Amino acid sequence: MSILAWVQRHRRRRAAVVLVVASLAASTLSTIARRMEPAGAPPTAAADVRRAVRVWPRNELELAWIRVLALDEWTEHLVPGAPIDVVVDRAGAVALTAQGVRWAVLVEDIDAVATAERERLTAPSAQRPTDWFAEYHDFVAIAEHLRELAARRPDVTTLEVIGGSAEGRPLLALHINAPGANKVPILLNGTQHAREWIASMVPICIAERALARDAAPELQQFLAKTDLWVIPVVNPDGYQYTWSSDRYWRKNRAGGHGVDLNRNFSIAWGGDGSSANKRSQIYRGTGPFSERESAALRDLVIGRGIALHVDFHSYGQLLLHPWTHTKKPAPDRDRFAAIADRMASAIYAARGQRYEIMPGAKLYPASGTMTDWASGHAQALSFTIELRPRGGSGFVLPPDQIRPTCDEALAAVLELRQAADLPRPR
Ligand SMILES: [Zn+2]
Repeated sequence: MSILAWVQRHRRRRAAVVLVVASLAASTLSTIARRMEPAGAPPTAAADVRRAVRVWPRNELELAWIRVLALDEWTEHLVPGAPIDVVVDRAGAVALTAQGVRWAVLVEDIDAVATAERERLTAPSAQRPTDWFAEYHDFVAIAEHLRELAARRPDVTTLEVIGGSAEGRPLLALHINAPGANKVPILLNGTQHAREWIASMVPICIAERALARDAAPELQQFLAKTDLWVIPVVNPDGYQYTWSSDRYWRKNRAGGHGVDLNRNFSIAWGGDGSSANKRSQIYRGTGPFSERESAALRDLVIGRGIALHVDFHSYGQLLLHPWTHTKKPAPDRDRFAAIADRMASAIYAARGQRYEIMPGAKLYPASGTMTDWASGHAQALSFTIELRPRGGSGFVLPPDQIRPTCDEALAAVLELRQAADLPRPR
C-alpha cells in the first residue's frame, strides 16, 4: 500500500498518523513534538484562521505529511509533481514552514471570504437581479427558474423529476427535445460537489442560451441534433447546506456525514482515491449506488441511452477524460484525447482562457467516479470539466465570472457535439 493510500485510510486517527508519518522522516519529529505540546497560552481568535494555501510537495512523503496537516483538500485531482491546494490552520502553516515545504497563500481567510459572499447575497440589491446570471442562487430559486424556463418553451421543453435526494428534494432535469433527425442524447450535470456553485449556474446558462428564440444558428443546429438533458443540481441537499450552514460542504447530506457522490458509482468502487471513513471528504458510501442521487443518474444515463456527457465541477480549469481510477489507457483514449483537444481550443477561442487537458494517467487514482462509469459502463463520451477559477479564491468565484465561464463551457459542449459526428479514429 502506498503512503498516500495508507494516510487516506487512517486520517481519522490524525494524531497517530502524524506520529507514524513522522517516524518515516526523523527531521519531522521536532515539528510533531511542537504540534503535540499544549500551547502555553489559550488560543487567540487569530489562531483559528483557516487559510487556503498552495503547496509544492517535493516527494510522496512530503505530500503525505501535507495531507495530514490539511483540514481540507481543495485539489480534487492530484498530479504527481504538481502543487496542491489545502486548508490549514495557523499551526499547520507553521508546521509547513518548519518542514521547509514551499507554500503560498491562496486565500488568507476562507471564512471571511464566505462571510463577505453571504453579505453580498443577502443585500437587498441581490434579491431580484435583472440579469439572473449576475448572481448565484439557492436551490429553491434554481428550481423556480427551471420551471420558468420550461414554461417559456413548452414546445420543446419539459421539466422532469428524475429522482429524489436523501432529504427528499427533487432531482430536477430540463429535458429539451426539439424536432430533428439523428438526435444524440446528451447529459449536462453539475454540483455533485455542493460547494462548486459555478457548476450549477453553467448548465442552466447553456440551456437558456439554447432555448432563446433568437439563438445563434449554431445553437439552433445543436438543438436540432440533440436530445438534451440538463440537471444543474444533482446534489440538492448538499447544495442547500452550503447556503444555510457550511459554504465549503462537499458531499451529500446522507446520515449527516454525507457521501461523496463522485465516488459512489460502480466502476472500481472502493478502490484507491476513495475512502471507507464516513468523515472523509471522499467517503464512497456503503456500496455502489447506495445514494439516491447517484442511482437516479445511473437510471437516466442507462434508460435514455446518454451518448455524450459532461460532469461540471470547479475549480482548476481542467478538462479530464477517462480513466481516473487506473493508469491503464481507456479503450477510446485517443478519441477522448482528440476531442478534449478540440474542446480546449473552443474554450480558448471563446474567452482566451486555457483549460488544461488531463488524461487520467497523469493523476493519482480516483475510484467510483461518474465520468469513468458513464464511459466504462454506459459507453458515453464522458468528460469532467473543472470550471473557473484556475486558483483565485477557490470555490467562491466572483459572480461577474458566471457569464464568461458559461461562454467557454458552452463552446466546449458545442464542440463535443460536433466531434461526436466525426468518424472514429482507427
Ligand atoms: Zn467536484
